[in-house]
Amino acid sequence: MSRDPHREARDLLGAYALDLLDDAERASATAHLDGCDECRRELDFIAPAASALALADPERVTAQPAPPPDLGDRVLSTIRAERPARRNGTRMLVAACAAALLVGVGAGVAGGYAAFAPDPEPQEHVAATVHDDRVDAEALLVPHTWGVEIRLTGEGFGAGETYRATLFDESGGAHPAGEFIGVGENPMVCNLNSSLLREDAAGFEITDESGDPVVTSSF
Ligand SMILES: [Zn+2]
Repeated sequence: MSRDPHREARDLLGAYALDLLDDAERASATAHLDGCDECRRELDFIAPAASALALADPERVTAQPAPPPDLGDRVLSTIRAERPARRNGTRMLVAACAAALLVGVGAGVAGGYAAFAPDPEPQEHVAATVHDDRVDAEALLVPHTWGVEIRLTGEGFGAGETYRATLFDESGGAHPAGEFIGVGENPMVCNLNSSLLREDAAGFEITDESGDPVVTSSF
């Protein structure tokens, strides 16, 4: 094990909060948490989102307020270095969204964890129209200085299918905002980033592998 204990514990915090660690991992994380204020603070910060994810009832996802988007973001970024060995549904969900995160983000996040600072900018709920009976979805926009981010909360995106997000400017020009892999009935929160500024963005669509729209929004 060449990694330092702090980094190791940080990578496990999301799974720790979701109670997905095996005994050895949990013991190791607990031992580190006992002696590390920074990791304890981080755990306090992500725990509410983790419990919201764990308790999410698929039937009620669209009727309930989404977990605070920044918290979900932190959970996902914390977990994204997780070992992918286990075929646990929640881990797969996290892995799928983490993959989407990595595909969707620009250079700003390439540096790693520290780039996920709490976002001071306002989030904007936008109306989303769903075109697939299996899917429930809600969307928030986050107007970053480098471009607008779509925070997509939803369920029913076909497991294993690749979905593509595209933003449109006011002239109808298409701007890619990343891809993600559907996780079926599991609730998911995906962060889809583009280089289009909020002031220039007029709508988005999420398309399936056939290019058919699954979720669309105009704003
Ligand atoms: Zn630590």
